[in-house]
Amino acid sequence: MKINSIDILQKSTSPIIGAGPCSAESEEQVMEVARSLAERGVTFFRAGIWKPRTKPGCFEGVGKVGLQWLKRVREELSLPVATEVATPEHVEQALEAGIDILWVGARTTTNPFAVQDIADSLRGVDVPVLVKNPVNPDLELWIGALERLNNAGITRLGTIHRGFSSYGEKIFRNSPQWQIPLELKRRLPELPMLCDPSHIAGKRELLYMLCQEAMDLSFDGLMVESHCHPECALSDGRQQVVPQELFVILDRLVHRSKQSAGNEISRYRTLLDEIDAELLHLIAKRMEISREIGEVKKEKGLRVFQPYRYSETVERFAEHSEAHRVDADTIKAIFEVIHSESIRQQLRIVNDIID
Ligand code: PEP
Ligand code: MN
Repeated sequence: MKINSIDILQKSTSPIIGAGPCSAESEEQVMEVARSLAERGVTFFRAGIWKPRTKPGCFEGVGKVGLQWLKRVREELSLPVATEVATPEHVEQALEAGIDILWVGARTTTNPFAVQDIADSLRGVDVPVLVKNPVNPDLELWIGALERLNNAGITRLGTIHRGFSSYGEKIFRNSPQWQIPLELKRRLPELPMLCDPSHIAGKRELLYMLCQEAMDLSFDGLMVESHCHPECALSDGRQQVVPQELFVILDRLVHRSKQSAGNEISRYRTLLDEIDAELLHLIAKRMEISREIGEVKKEKGLRVFQPYRYSETVERFAEHSEAHRVDADTIKAIFEVIHSESIRQQLRIVNDIID
């Protein structure tokens, strides 16, 4: 890839901070939040004009008129402005309004036809473009979108990590799966990589932790959603913070040295913590199913412990342990403990033991 640096992002003191509301809602709302952010100083102002929504009937953005509000932010507050584009029409209108940075949203990155259309509409215009990860955890698809834009002559590229969709109850709205953006950084180190903790978190309480994690993992900056009245926001209210709260978060961040071995270690620890959290979640899920089996066994008058089933499970995993480079006895011991807890839970059900 032929990459040039994005001057707007370079000028800023590190880390790069993009901030602004999820959606531009009115001229007053845009100016109010932009003024607060400009006072403290951020690298660029973000606001969605065209909003991709899961269900029809939700607020789908103010459309073209919002571009004029962003233009005002740019002119009156000297803040570079960024918005999401999803179609060639969006690109045309955004370029006409002089938007400084475009970003491709997560849903669009998922669709190579849509990305190609955007790339084609940008041919000959070297505007900076930030590409969010696709909603599904597919690194090649993410890189493919960058390549499509680069092949169309876009050289000022950057990426935004906003987490990945997953099914079921979870801590994060979009699971961070840090190993994916870290691999992208390893492969394309010249691209600035921002983290969007707002869409990973889904709720403002998790923002600080995620911002710190992103800094510890050597992200170049953050893109955070900020709204002066999040409780009235027309989209993503739960994850937006008032500018003052954002400044508190930014001031609390610890910027650890890039050089130190400690940083390297904390990167691994973060990954281990995440895996441990997943393990715990899976064990809990397994126990839930065990309790359901317990109910069936109780109803049908079946014995809880069925030896053939037990040895089958333990042996099956021990057999595969070598391929996973884990000691067979260790695997056996882990599954024995899991199995015995499962039996204990079922016995309580069958015998009507209540906590
Ligand atoms: C956004 O940044 O407001 C947005 C719609 O993000 P994503 O594409 O990550 O869902
Ligand atoms: Mn949003």
